[in-house]
Amino acid sequence: MTKRIFNSICIVALSVFLSSIVLFMGVLYNYFSSVQRSQLGMQTDLAAQGVSNEGIGYFEGLGVTDYRITWISTDGAVLYDSKTDSSEMENHLEREEIQQALSEGIGESSRYSITLLERSIYCARRLPDGTVLRLSIAQNTLLTLTLGMMQPICIIFAVAVILSLILAFHLSKAIVKPLNELNLSDPMHNNGYDELTPLLKRIAAQQRQIRIQGEELRKKQSEFEAVTTGMSEGIVLLNKKQIILSINPAAMRLFGVDYSCTGKYLLSVNRSLKLQELLQKAGDGKHAEMLLELAGGTYQLAASPVFSDALISGIVLLMLDVTEKEKAEQMRREFTANVSHELKTPMHTISGSAELLANGMVEQEDIPKFSRQIYAETQRMIRLVEDIIRLSHLDEGADDMKWEEIDLYALAGETVQALLPEAEAAGVQIDLCGGAATVYGIRQLIHSIVFNLCDNAIKYNHRDGSVSVTVESRENSVILSVADTGIGIPTEHQERIFERFYRVDKSHSKEIGGTGLGLSIVKHAAKLHDAEIMVHSVVNGGTTMKVCFPD
Ligand code: ADP
Repeated sequence: MTKRIFNSICIVALSVFLSSIVLFMGVLYNYFSSVQRSQLGMQTDLAAQGVSNEGIGYFEGLGVTDYRITWISTDGAVLYDSKTDSSEMENHLEREEIQQALSEGIGESSRYSITLLERSIYCARRLPDGTVLRLSIAQNTLLTLTLGMMQPICIIFAVAVILSLILAFHLSKAIVKPLNELNLSDPMHNNGYDELTPLLKRIAAQQRQIRIQGEELRKKQSEFEAVTTGMSEGIVLLNKKQIILSINPAAMRLFGVDYSCTGKYLLSVNRSLKLQELLQKAGDGKHAEMLLELAGGTYQLAASPVFSDALISGIVLLMLDVTEKEKAEQMRREFTANVSHELKTPMHTISGSAELLANGMVEQEDIPKFSRQIYAETQRMIRLVEDIIRLSHLDEGADDMKWEEIDLYALAGETVQALLPEAEAAGVQIDLCGGAATVYGIRQLIHSIVFNLCDNAIKYNHRDGSVSVTVESRENSVILSVADTGIGIPTEHQERIFERFYRVDKSHSKEIGGTGLGLSIVKHAAKLHDAEIMVHSVVNGGTTMKVCFPD
């Protein structure tokens, strides 16, 4: 801007200067021309008077150098000329000033030389005898005058240029200074130019509007951050180039990054090919979903494009934890496969035995043995189906079962009594110790806990071994403990024995009629009662299982 003002001032100054010079020269030239004309007229009058009085004698010894005097007869012949021999001169009758003088008494004219550098002005007077006296003087033309004054003009011009430059430099700076000093953060408190007031008012109004919009944006941003920060689901906002604009703490945790990842490509944070495909689809304007293993869990990633004015401006990536759902799904699949497998063996045995019996292919004395086998396998299937029903009932929460105060010691006594025949058959001694202790729970389920633990303690015991069932009431809990002197559980299996169909020794368990679901039922039932299970076992040293019920 300073440069433009500087240039403008220079151009204006020099234009004004040049036009002033031209005008001045013109005015000056006109003034001097008119002075010269009137002087020529006066001189012509005086000379006309002299020639009228003295005739040709007037010209003798006249010695005029500036003027040219010509005396012309009535027929146009030159009688006298101060510069040239009159006899050699042509007839002057046709000259404009002579014609005018002959007809009006006074005649004037001017003529340029061939080079146009000089002009002659003529003034003629008719004398009383009819002759005409003409005076002429050479006058410089405007061009000659200008050329003659070229040197001073150039000097003045140079001075004017230097002055213009200095003035323009300072002026332009002075004009721009208030503009540079404008305080735009407080537009209404500026002492600059009045002409700027409407502009400053507009700036102030726009600043107010921007401030309001900024506050609204900040408010919305903090609302958004408050919502997304508290979310357990991961949420990532990307621009159309897949650069992270915003990421919430849950998503940062899943990708194992911090806030510094903002502004980076999402694919530099996680290079998964599946994620790349997902973002590609969203970038093409389609909603896409997929499952991804992240931070030790399974997450469902949903990517949706964000449109603005029908063009994709970004992508929203939502990450939902579906680990539990996936696990449950997996467990259901495994459970179905296991149930089918568990049922297949006894059914094959039953079917085979029944076929042999039906075809009369069994000896009379073997019929009871086959019948017992069918019976045993059927019992096994019944136990299995009952356990499955119990488990699925527990899976559904066992909402329909009645909660009541239960004397755990009495219940354990009943169970021990019921298991005495089995213990006797296995050659195991079973005892109950402790005293009355009340727990609040579902009788049927607590019975399942005691029964399964005691049943296992007998089943996985040595002949002549023992089982000790203890019920004791502590300050804040009631503890049921079932200790046996049996085969024990290797440490690496202790974690897994509560899984469905998990058996340490598959064939042994099946041989003794185990379903592989007993401890799963114990675990579920204990969980429903907020009870804790503890296992302590030494291979061939016996096992102690403790269930700690909250009081
Ligand atoms: P099962 O019907 O096979 O007994 P459980 O779920 O009750 O199924 O037990 C799972 C596995 O844990 C058993 O197969 C067995 O290997 C082991 N187990 C359970 N209780 C005992 C115990 N008291 N002593 C030794 N091993 C045991």
